[in-house]
Amino acid sequence: MLKSTHQAIRSAGEKLGLTLTQVEDLLEVDAAHEFEIVLKNGKRFTGFRTQHSNKRGPYKGGVRFHPEVDFDEVRALATLMSLKTAVVDIPLGGGKGGVAVNPRDLSEAELEELAREYVRHLAPHIGPDKDIPAPDVNTNPKIIDWFVDEYSKITGDVTKASFTGKSLQNGGSEGRNAATGQGGLFVLEEFLELEGRQNEPLTYAVQGFGNVGAFFAELTQKRFPSWRLIAVSDSKATITDKKGLNAINLSSFKQSGGSFSELENVSKYDPEQVLETKADVLVLAALGGVITEDNEPEVKAKIILELANGPVGIEAQARLSKRGVQVIPDMLANAGGVIVSYYEWQQNLADEHWSEERVSQMLESQLKKATKSVYSISNEKKMSLPEAAYLLGVQRLVETSSKGN
Ligand code: NAD
Repeated sequence: MLKSTHQAIRSAGEKLGLTLTQVEDLLEVDAAHEFEIVLKNGKRFTGFRTQHSNKRGPYKGGVRFHPEVDFDEVRALATLMSLKTAVVDIPLGGGKGGVAVNPRDLSEAELEELAREYVRHLAPHIGPDKDIPAPDVNTNPKIIDWFVDEYSKITGDVTKASFTGKSLQNGGSEGRNAATGQGGLFVLEEFLELEGRQNEPLTYAVQGFGNVGAFFAELTQKRFPSWRLIAVSDSKATITDKKGLNAINLSSFKQSGGSFSELENVSKYDPEQVLETKADVLVLAALGGVITEDNEPEVKAKIILELANGPVGIEAQARLSKRGVQVIPDMLANAGGVIVSYYEWQQNLADEHWSEERVSQMLESQLKKATKSVYSISNEKKMSLPEAAYLLGVQRLVETSSKGN
């Protein structure tokens, strides 16, 4: 991921005529913290926090608890966050953190101790004006609430603006849970409008039916009743129905702990089969790197919406673009989460609580504006949407640097 992120930045830098020093500056991170967390029972884990750029505002980015977290992954994701916040034009920078751990191997008490220790190591480097971490893979409002509590014990901070993704009763924002899926739908809607296709009854398929995929599909069903969800997958199976699946029922089923492989009266296939669905739109909401050079020829959709981070590899993207498939890039399509995190931070600092309607309207307007910008660069410069997003992100980061902010 780090290699392809750097490759895409270099290529955008070349198109913008940047100097080598300007490009190298974008590849560097401001700071990388790596530390050992030792629990009372002697279990040891490595923790990370990488701060890529704060030129546009405090560092911002999630913390993931996952066994495969490592230095390079965190560095790539921090760099991508700086570009993402620039593309959607919010005054924040880019950071990312994590702990190399499988949280399922820990008891509840160990998990809480790990979360609190993570903050103790990082307290001098984070805070409402410095770096504002958020949830990511395997971290949730409960863990974030522990982070906030520990941070306020250490520093006396009472704003709760040190972290976002908190529970609602602890200063979280309305609409944060749905934000990434909802944002993806706003971006797709604007894209279709720009293409003059807003009134077409589309078919779509969704890979991954967790928080992001399920919210996306539920909201789509409510907003566009004429669209048909013809395939969905989780980690166990793909299910299909040409007449259309009911996203709201499937979401309740998943929330009750069910797996698609247990469903009856639907056609079932391997989980990867969803990628080959003959639908207008393929929504990728599971994992990174799911479309590669190997399986790219099997993709039949004409529009791909990247809700996961980096689901389409850089080579696959170039090939898809060559045969007219439009990939709506993660930097834009999944930015709803960080945008609502920004609103949460603003609410905490102002000691306010905004309605869900207000948050949703602001999100819609911010994302539709960003979609127009990326789309118009792609048209003017005759490049794919992912290339246009990188170009815009790099340009904004460099402009801010040259203003000396
Ligand atoms: P989640 O854990 O709630 O859901 C992931 C879903 O993917 C689950 O339904 C799981 O069964 C499914 N899945 C796993 N492996 C699969 C496979 N091989 N085939 C098909 N499905 C598979 O996670 P989430 O919060 O919905 O996040 C999904 C993706 O979006 C992740 O890549 C995450 O990094 C990215 N993302 C999330 C947010 C957010 O706000 N939650 C923001 C930006 C990006």
